[in-house]
Amino acid sequence: MAEKKRALITGGTRGIGRAIVEEFLQSGFADVVFFYRSSDDAANELAEKYSSGEFKLKGIKADVSDFTQVEKAVTETIEFLGEVDVLVNNAGITRDNLLLRMSEEEFDAVINANLKSVFNLTKIILRPMIKQRGGSIINISSVVGITGNPGQANYSASKAGIIGFTKSIAKEVASRNIRVNSVAPGFIETDMTGSLNEEQRKSLMDVIPLKRIGKAGEIATVVKFLASDDSSYITGQVLTVDGGMVM
Ligand code: NDP
Repeated sequence: MAEKKRALITGGTRGIGRAIVEEFLQSGFADVVFFYRSSDDAANELAEKYSSGEFKLKGIKADVSDFTQVEKAVTETIEFLGEVDVLVNNAGITRDNLLLRMSEEEFDAVINANLKSVFNLTKIILRPMIKQRGGSIINISSVVGITGNPGQANYSASKAGIIGFTKSIAKEVASRNIRVNSVAPGFIETDMTGSLNEEQRKSLMDVIPLKRIGKAGEIATVVKFLASDDSSYITGQVLTVDGGMVM
């Protein structure tokens, strides 16, 4: 089996991020540090679940939109893991509203949590990654970053921004043996989509060829592929994982 990777995953307490943490650990693919913002109970429960000697896992509370907090948390991460081979920028929020009603605070909060965070993490991890001569960065975007979505101008802009960022950095660091890719999920069953009502779920089935909402684990396995050496010739790509919604 290939040597174990060392991975940093943001937003690991819930939903897709948690599924990535668990996929990496359970398959023996990587030792993991995850960041989270406020869910102390979920973070403790996750750390407890994988506290046996077989696994190496640590949760760090850090707001990914804050450069100084990220700097400190990355230092702590490298102390714990030694090096970081894989960065998964997954943390994200929504503050949906039609533009006419959207406040400046709602716009800024989403851009900072979803896009500025990707700048913060990537910039800070890049130097150590260059030093160790390689790595893989995966940024979680969304299909709405490609298609747009009414009521989500802030969110769609942040996710489209992630795609542009991914491609630019992929070009900047390819010669350093660092790959940068994005995964764009469609509708995935998590807290973020938990508020969809029956009618909304039904109308989604009309636009999802596979006729179901996705599972967080179905994003996690794709992220693991992009993090692994199996994807060693893939960089600068956006992989939609959406039951065929956008094609
Ligand atoms: P959840 O709301 O279930 O979980 C979000 C996670 O991000 C939590 O762990 C949360 O920590 C963390 N987080 C949020 N803001 C910050 C912050 N400022 N600093 C640190 N951590 C933060 O989200 P999902 O699992 O549904 O989504 C994960 C990613 O996938 C997001 O980027 C989202 O945009 C994207 N996505 C999701 C889709 C879906 O259908 N669910 C579709 C397309 C994309 P805490 O628990 O402490 O709050």
